[in-house]
Amino acid sequence: MVEVRQLASIGEAIFAKVNISRGTRIAAETPLITVPPINSIDEELWELCNAVDKITDGKSKELEKLPYSSKVVGIIKKGGHVDNRVWCFYKNRKLKNSDGKLLKGKKLGRIVNRTINLCMIYLVNNVQLGPGGKYGSGIFPLYTRINHSCVPNAYNSWNPTLERLTIHAIHDIKAGEQIFVDYIGKACRTRNQRNFSLHTAWDITCNCAACTDDRLDQLRYRMLVLDQALAAYECGASEEAHLEGIPKLETNEQALKAAEELVKLFKKQRLCGMELCKT
Ligand SMILES: [Zn+2]
Repeated sequence: MVEVRQLASIGEAIFAKVNISRGTRIAAETPLITVPPINSIDEELWELCNAVDKITDGKSKELEKLPYSSKVVGIIKKGGHVDNRVWCFYKNRKLKNSDGKLLKGKKLGRIVNRTINLCMIYLVNNVQLGPGGKYGSGIFPLYTRINHSCVPNAYNSWNPTLERLTIHAIHDIKAGEQIFVDYIGKACRTRNQRNFSLHTAWDITCNCAACTDDRLDQLRYRMLVLDQALAAYECGASEEAHLEGIPKLETNEQALKAAEELVKLFKKQRLCGMELCKT
């Protein structure tokens, strides 16, 4: 149904080979590698070292082929946290040579560097499994090659029963069109806010319609205002919590009206997913 193509401007991308109608399951992908649910970054790195250390040669080669921004990797590396954790992991494991002597020096360094490299690729490309990473995180080679758009034509979701990441078409997609998903999952944001997130996490700039058309950006600003007003209404926020320019919703009627306007704005831009559902 889909194929990988190499684009000069952005590298790999996924395209539809045939016409795909709305609601079609494009893929149900098994993870290449997973990390169980965690409570802290430290714990995540430890589990990641464990997973990467056990990875087969075939899987590690697939992992090494995945795209990642060296700029983002540089930012993660700068803290030195990952390097320290991986060194610590191997010091704890006390790896030995074939003659039973403790592995150290260059030989240990090579193993450590390989694990650090694979951890970096994981950290840039992993997907949370379930809301808030309830089922952990994982790497999916096909999904990773799908590019981002703030007006996506596909939606991904972890299915814990199938233990697969499903990707469905949320609009009719013509043969030859590129498949897009939303990496951030927050439609009620201005293009500046969205692009800040995209820059920080993936070093990408989005050129979708919503990021290049001023009128569409104004609609997103209105969505942001309505979303925040509804969030404040929902949790009964006090006066102080109200940001400038955000209307205070005082009655159920006002809140319903705001929610209806927001739903219309979602539909006008052909946006769907959990945010529309919640609204
Ligand atoms: Zn965009």
